[in-house]
Amino acid sequence: MDRKGILIVVSGYSGVGKGTLIKKLTSRYSQYALSISATTRAPREGEADGREYFFKTEEEFKELADTGRLFEYARYCDHYYGTPKDYVEEQLGQGRDVILEIEQQGALKVKEQNPDALMLFVMPPDAQTLVERLRGRDTETEEVIQQRLAQAVEESKYVDRYDYMVVNADLDRAVEEVHHLIESQHMMISRNLDFAKQIQDELIELAGKLRD
Ligand code: 5GP
Repeated sequence: MDRKGILIVVSGYSGVGKGTLIKKLTSRYSQYALSISATTRAPREGEADGREYFFKTEEEFKELADTGRLFEYARYCDHYYGTPKDYVEEQLGQGRDVILEIEQQGALKVKEQNPDALMLFVMPPDAQTLVERLRGRDTETEEVIQQRLAQAVEESKYVDRYDYMVVNADLDRAVEEVHHLIESQHMMISRNLDFAKQIQDELIELAGKLRD
């Protein structure tokens, strides 16, 4: 039985810890392929080109978009972010589950074009915790923090477009919840119609033989 890869979109408010959650998920389970995005924002301390992001100039990014090499892209807080197309298609083709950790506009475009995509939204246990995490990260100026909070308010209006939420209160638990959600998707009949049909054909054949 061939297992088909699932396209998984993970969004969540800035500072909610979705990056950490996904890193842990992908290091714990080898079935996942994590897409690395291109962005025009500057690297944060500790980020490396080709590991967290492919860091691009605006011209380079536009070139990627104009030549159709992005699966989706969006502008978020004054910068461009986009998903390289080849990697996503390659990995899905090999039956791996591909994770896109992307913001909402891009996420909704992906869902429109890929109705089978599984849409997950990571929630903080409460709003105050989110603000504290955003401040505690110590990588952003107060101005950027406020911009990201305003963005979070905007995003909160569209969470009903997602399929499932995972509350990131306890990291390990959240990782397991995401993994189980994805595993259960693999068991959906609608994702296994070929297999169901194969069993049906075998049953018909066997029943026929036994009758004769
Ligand atoms: P950050 O600057 O904190 O790394 O990312 C800002 C936001 O951009 C996050 O919500 C992140 O999920 C999103 N993002 C990262 N890569 C992409 C991408 O390729 N496409 C889209 N649409 N959003 C992305």
